[in-house]
This record gives sequence, structure tokens and C-alpha cells, in this order.
Amino acid sequence: MTEKRVAFVTGASRGIGKAIALRLAKDGRHVVLVSRSEGPLSEVKSEIEAAGGSAEVLAVDVGDAKALAAAVEAVATKHARLDILVNNAGITKDGLMLRMSDEDWDTVLDTNLKSSFVASRAAARAMMKNRFGRIVNIGSTSGVVGNAGQANYAAAKAGLMGLTKTIARELGSKGVTANCIAPGFIQTDMTANLPDQVKEGVTAMMAIKRLGTPEDIAAAVAYVTSDEAGFLTGQTIAVDGGMTMC
Ligand code: NDP
Repeated sequence: MTEKRVAFVTGASRGIGKAIALRLAKDGRHVVLVSRSEGPLSEVKSEIEAAGGSAEVLAVDVGDAKALAAAVEAVATKHARLDILVNNAGITKDGLMLRMSDEDWDTVLDTNLKSSFVASRAAARAMMKNRFGRIVNIGSTSGVVGNAGQANYAAAKAGLMGLTKTIARELGSKGVTANCIAPGFIQTDMTANLPDQVKEGVTAMMAIKRLGTPEDIAAAVAYVTSDEAGFLTGQTIAVDGGMTMC
């Protein structure tokens, strides 16, 4: 059995997922870095190793349910443990509902919601066996309060909150917690192309008058996945600079 706690982080090639991976590695976890292409993941792995941590790379499309489940199971078997699962990979395909295609709905739901169900189901067995597990779904404040132009994305993120609560209820007695971290507006590739006017408007709605950083989210994930967070489960924690407060 691998000595360190093993963390499986999807969408770890950049943005929030990369920050989560770096932070968990810094906190002593062996991190399995997952996204669609190996190149960027290998760079994150090198960064982790240069800082004294350990990681491995897995190229998987989380929209491919069979491949994702197989990857999670293979990691759990290889290490004889899977302690932490961070379902972070996500995409947007924005558009007003009246013009949104079925395809854009399905792609976003499969990538942002179904993948979390598939990975959590695959991870649950190893977690229950070892009587320890931390599942984190990366939601969004869009799933909490809705957002014009994001029917697919907001529905997927709201779905993650229900999924999180259900996992928490089903696995709590086995030492497995599940929580949802809902970021507000975080500076990553996903938000880079929004006009300055939008960014200023969003900042004005926050109690803390700045945009979030990937490290702000990683800090919250580090806590909810820690050994000491064993009594915290089923929660959605908005890390949004006080934008929604609900
Ligand atoms: P980025 O676009 O910067 O990164 C997305 C990550 O997900 C990349 O690593 C990408 O890797 C990976 N990814 C996307 N699709 C797939 C797929 N099908 N299979 C495997 N990996 C995939 O996004 P952010 O870092 O900004 O967002 C991360 C999470 O945080 C998402 O769930 C997002 O919805 C959520 N969030 C972000 C907010 C923000 O303001 N940025 C606000 C609220 C929530 P690759 O392309 O190499 O496969």
C-alpha cells in the first residue's frame, strides 16, 4: 500500500485544478493528475516533484464514463487506497436557453455532472474498504443562484450539490465525507476572456473587493480533504469573496 494519502484530481492541467494539485502535494499527498492531454499534466508533475512532492499523470476524458471509471479503479488498485477524489474538471458552453442546443446541454451535463457521479461511484469501494474518504465536487455559485446564459452549466453545478448531499448520507457511516466547493469568480482561462466591464460588475457585488485566485479555492479543498475535517460533510461552501452569502 502506498504510504501517502492518494488524491485523484481531475482538470489538474491548469487553473483551479492545478492549484489544488500543487496544494495537496505540498500537504503530503501523492497526487494523480487527470485531464485530456498528457503534456500539460507532465509539466504540473515536474513542478510538484521539484518542490519535493510526488505525482503521476493520467490522460482521461472525464466525459468518457467507462474510461473514467476504469482510471479511478486502476489507481485504487495500484496504490491499494484512494483517499481523496476532487471532481474539478469542467467546461462552459454558454448561451441563452432559447438558443441552447441539446448537444451543448448534454456535453456540459456529461462533463460537469455525470463525471462526478461516475468517479465517485468508482472511488467509493476503496474508500469504504479503508474507512476513509474525502470526495470534493467543484460546483459554482452559478449553481446556487443561477446565471443568465448558463442553463446547462448552472443545472450541472446545482446537480452537484444534490449529488454531494446524497453521497454524504450514503457513505458517512463508512468514514467518507463529501462536500461541494462553489467558487465565485476566479481568475483562470475559463474567465480570462470576459470583458473588463463584467469583471468590474462582479467585483462590485463582493464583500471582498477582488477577484478570486485558484489558490483561494485550493485552500478550501485542502481543509475539507484533511484528516481533521471528518465531521464536515454534505456541505456546499461558497468561496466567492462574499458575493452570494447564501
Ligand atoms: P479551466 O478552463 O482553466 O480548466 C479546466 C480544466 O478541466 C483543465 O485542466 C481541462 O484540461 C480540464 N477538462 C476540461 N474538460 C475535460 C474533460 N472532458 N476531461 C478531462 N479534463 C477536462 O477551468 P477552471 O480552472 O476555471 O475551472 C475548474 C473548475 O472550477 C470547473 O469545474 C469550473 O466549472 C469551476 N469553476 C470555475 C470558476 C471560475 O471563475 N474560473 C467559477 C466557478 C466554478 P484539458 O483541457 O487539458 O483536458
